[in-house]
Amino acid sequence: MANLHLYNTMTRQKMPFKPLNPAEIKLYTCGPTVYNFAHIGNLRTYIFEDLLRRVLRWNGYQVKHVMNITDVGHLTSDADEGEDKMLKGAKREKKTVWEIAEYYAQAFLEDMDRLNLLKPHIKPKATDHIEAMINQIKQLEKNGLTYESGGNIYFDTSKLSDYGKLAQLDKQELQAGARVEVDKNKKNPHDFVLWFTKSKFLDNSESLKGEGQEMQWDSPWGRGYPGWHIECSSMAQKYLGQQMDIHCGGIDHIPVHHTNELAQAEGATFKKPWVQYWMHGNFLVLKDKEKMAKSDTNFLTLQALMDKGYDPLDYRYFCLQSHYRKELRFDWEGMNAARTGLRRLRNKVCKLNSDNATTAPQPLHNRSTTERFETAINDDLNLPEALAETWNLIDNPEISDADKLATIKKFDTVLGLQLDKKLKFQIPDSIQKLIIERNKARKDKDWEQSDKLRDEIQDAGFIVKDGDGGTEVQPK
Ligand code: AMP
Ligand code: ZN
Repeated sequence: MANLHLYNTMTRQKMPFKPLNPAEIKLYTCGPTVYNFAHIGNLRTYIFEDLLRRVLRWNGYQVKHVMNITDVGHLTSDADEGEDKMLKGAKREKKTVWEIAEYYAQAFLEDMDRLNLLKPHIKPKATDHIEAMINQIKQLEKNGLTYESGGNIYFDTSKLSDYGKLAQLDKQELQAGARVEVDKNKKNPHDFVLWFTKSKFLDNSESLKGEGQEMQWDSPWGRGYPGWHIECSSMAQKYLGQQMDIHCGGIDHIPVHHTNELAQAEGATFKKPWVQYWMHGNFLVLKDKEKMAKSDTNFLTLQALMDKGYDPLDYRYFCLQSHYRKELRFDWEGMNAARTGLRRLRNKVCKLNSDNATTAPQPLHNRSTTERFETAINDDLNLPEALAETWNLIDNPEISDADKLATIKKFDTVLGLQLDKKLKFQIPDSIQKLIIERNKARKDKDWEQSDKLRDEIQDAGFIVKDGDGGTEVQPK
């Protein structure tokens, strides 16, 4: 098997990839909270995860991919503070939380299609898995890792000796309570909620948690709703078993969400490590290094890019030019350069003439090109390098068009840029008229007239070809 290396956040190192079971790689990626459209920052993370899947496929692995849809329990801070995100969306749009969830989940799937992202095999919704979550909380309770306070059930992080290992939160920081402690019910600053009921603080003052929450379920601890993190650990274990190969998300998930998922999963089963490779995508930022966030007003959606005339894959190309572990700055000059780059590349692919090949196309014929491409993608998904290799290939005069085309198609199984997609172009009415006249002349075998019309079309800047359906043209 090929020499794939991936950067593991847990060890802070690139490591050779060794699957739990080579017959099927188990992959879990944290999905969207569906209270608003995904912004292009979120989409950068999903593009990175898609590239990972495609690179695994290149290396001959079958992948079982689970991605959750969060439709309950995610408060505006990733810890347990603030308003419920779904409720916020419902208030904004004067709809029920269920309607909001349905609408934005659908919009997200549409964005995935537009960006040519491979679909996860299982997309469990949090609200369909309350029972699995309750079962995992019960197990944590049995293992002595929980306590009840002010009506909520909390995870007691002091009971897990390696709590915080993913984020490398050291004990000192844990004790000092580096984060502002707002929830007076917590015994330790990093403790987090597993199950909310309409809670009260220990001093009997009312907490806002649970206030106005439409989504509530009965549980052994009272009617309420789950904390955010429990959905991922319980659904991942339901669909992928007690251990998995790779777990992904954006870097913001390292200190809270993934740290807490990990505590729950290993706290419930005692089977370690729950995840063999943790992989995290860096942020898309704006000019002043500001992270694009859904709670801000200045976020851009894919639709907004399309409204400005970009092809969604222009944005994919934009992301491919930067390594997933590097911060990527978004600006319009960069988007325009990406659009030009993709157009030029597609145009060159379009012009490759595979008809006059002397031998059958051999995608792996140009060994050194393909090897360099493979070395790049297997070096922790170095897509900028792989893209540069794609350009080297297309511009290499020593490789036949047929071989180029076959190799590009193979590369595109990873790049996902639909490089052999025919460019859409407008043919002016005046040229359409000449095409009709020329087709008629050819039908009447009036070759002189046909040649005259061909020259006229060519002079107007088009290449003319005689296809089965008559005259075909494309811009020069
Ligand atoms: P959310 O819908 O907020 O749960 O986020 C979905 C995914 O997008 C998560 O994996 C986040 O870590 C990731 N994410 C959030 N903001 C950004 C950003 N500005 N750039 C890249 N990824 C992000
Ligand atoms: Zn998650």
